[in-house]
Parts: sequence; structure tokens; C-alpha cells
Amino acid sequence: MESIIFIAPPAAGKGTQAKMLCEAYQIPHISTGDLLRGASLVDDERGKYIKKQISSGAFVSDDIILELLEERLQQKDCNNGYILDGFPRNIEQAIAYENILRKLNKKLGIVIYLDVKKELACKRIEGRVICPLCGSVYNTIIEEAQPKEDGICDHCGNKLVKRADDNSETFGLRYDTYLEKTQPLIDYYDSKNVLYRVSSVNSKDDTFKEISSFLEGSSKL
Ligand code: AMP
Repeated sequence: MESIIFIAPPAAGKGTQAKMLCEAYQIPHISTGDLLRGASLVDDERGKYIKKQISSGAFVSDDIILELLEERLQQKDCNNGYILDGFPRNIEQAIAYENILRKLNKKLGIVIYLDVKKELACKRIEGRVICPLCGSVYNTIIEEAQPKEDGICDHCGNKLVKRADDNSETFGLRYDTYLEKTQPLIDYYDSKNVLYRVSSVNSKDDTFKEISSFLEGSSKL
């Protein structure tokens, strides 16, 4: 299977869709946010810096992201495709990624642009809770996304938590950074003929069906 990149504003549902696709196609889900949250737990200068950037809604430096990502992509489970969630976030990262791909003899694959209006994304942020253990995402406000048992992960039974950067203030900053830095990637990948646009206004299952039927029809599997 070809690799998939997700581009989307914060809370468009890219983490949820990425996770569903990984389960369906048995490929790894690589979220740079998750890699960074892991690295932020290390009690050193780098860990402290990452924590500060994430909690203020600012980007972490490209050098750190690229180092973590290159290391992850060399693991065996990435040999038959993977889903990138949260990367690239700017043109510089996209160009550096293509250099990494050349070095590792991998192809660019498909880019899925998941679009959502700011108001809906903000509502999703307010209610979003995640499982810190398996990364599953739920929403306390959106009925279809609630966990079966309040505050508990359906998949692994772990306690759900709210992300430190999921508040309306940090969301505003993350959204503005997305518009300035990440949105130009849409034209960048469109010009390479690898972009597929999906609107994320429907339920997660409908959005998943739309993406899956595109993948199945496009002979990218
Ligand atoms: P996410 O889980 O994708 O929403 O990412 C959470 C936070 O991690 C972002 O708000 C950034 O601070 C940081 N981050 C994740 N991926 C990247 C990236 N590719 N480049 C820079 N910062 C990132």
C-alpha cells in the first residue's frame, strides 16, 4: 500500500480517520504529535522545550520533528506503507520529507486533505478527550463520539484525559498557525497531483467510507 499523508486544520478528525484506516489496512499510524508528546516526557532540555511549544500551540522546530520521524520511518513496520498524521506542517518539512524518502527509498504516496469549518473544529476541541495509552479519540459533546462508559476508553479500558492544548485560546493560535504555515501545502501537493479532498462535516463513519472507497478505486492499495 502507498503511504498516506493527512493535512487538516486542528480537530478536523485526522487522528480519528488515520487510526481507522490503519486498523482497516494494517499499517502503522505515525502521529508527530504523539511522537512529540512521548519525547516531552523525557526530563531534559529537549523534553522541556517540546512541552512548552505544545502547550502554547506553537510548532516544535523542524530539526526535532525530522529527527524523530526519520528514526520512526526506518522501523520495519513502515515497509508496507504508513499513515502520517500531523506532518508535514509547512513547506520546509514537506521538502525535507522528500529528501528522507529518497534516502530510505520510499515513495510520496497520497495526500488526503480533510476540510472542516473553524466553528465545527472549535466545538470538537471543547469536547475532545483522548486515551493516553492507545491514542483513541472521543468527544463528550458529540453524541456519536462519546465513549460507552463515561471517561473510559472503549478499546483498552484506560482513563480518558483532556489534552493540555485543547482549549479555545490555544486552539485559536493553532488554527492561525495552520492557515499561515500548513494550508500552502494544499497547493503544493495539488500541483504534484497527489491530493485528494474530503469534507469532514459528516459522521466519522461516513468520512471513513468516502476515503476508503477513494483508496480502493484509485489502485493505491
Ligand atoms: P497534533 O497532535 O498533531 O495536534 O500536534 C500537537 C502539537 O505538537 C502541535 O500543536 C505542535 O505544537 C506539535 N507538532 C506536531 N506535529 C508537528 C509538526 N509536524 N511540526 C511542528 N510541530 C508539530
